[in-house]
Amino acid sequence: MNSYIESLLELIYPEKNICYICDCYDESIGENYICNKCEQSIKKITPPFCNKCGKPINYGVSADLCPDCFNFEKSFEASRSPFLYEGIIKDGIYNFKYYNKPYYYKLFGNLILQYMNKINYLSFDYIASVPIHNSKLKSRGYNQSELLAKYVSIKLNIPYVNALKRIKKTSTQSSQSKLNRMKNLKDSFTIRKKNKITFIKKSSVLLVDDVYTTGSTANECSKVLLNYGVNKVYVVTIAR
Ligand SMILES: [Zn+2]
Ligand SMILES: [Zn+2]
Repeated sequence: MNSYIESLLELIYPEKNICYICDCYDESIGENYICNKCEQSIKKITPPFCNKCGKPINYGVSADLCPDCFNFEKSFEASRSPFLYEGIIKDGIYNFKYYNKPYYYKLFGNLILQYMNKINYLSFDYIASVPIHNSKLKSRGYNQSELLAKYVSIKLNIPYVNALKRIKKTSTQSSQSKLNRMKNLKDSFTIRKKNKITFIKKSSVLLVDDVYTTGSTANECSKVLLNYGVNKVYVVTIAR
């Protein structure tokens, strides 16, 4: 069976009690899609962390901003991520994006939702996602951040808005310096249908992405939303 049909079937018939990370079968997994052992080994972000970007702060609890947020203003109100981008979470996100595993949105969506409930990060008018360029969408077949955002939207009963469009094709970000990323991302995003989503003006929007690396993507997307008239932008990612 080819992998496309396989993943389609997995979308239609989600396997209960299977851990997406290690493939083990355990009745306690249910629809969490992760076993206890794997969940225990994820590196969780615990306080103290930066008030703005959610980065763990190790040097004294009195600082509420990390050096980056202290020195460079961010356009979003806050960004939060439940996990550090390493180990099985890093591998899992890689598989989610590059190994044709769109159905991983259920696993990561649940983990994000558990965290959002735990820290009471829930008051938003709309949910949006970081877009990928159309050419990438064609080759990958899905935008992992959009799948996550839609899942969170359904579970929290907050409307999803397809607000942003990526207009500039950018090279793979992960290997670049912060300055290069910022240059690269400038003017990369725009509002998708300017006169069809005017209802999001003056609202608060939660922007969903898979990973927060330097914050440049979240910052650029937030800027575009704020320039359009959105009141406040919050960000959530699986890891950072
Ligand atoms: Zn497992
Ligand atoms: Zn920070």
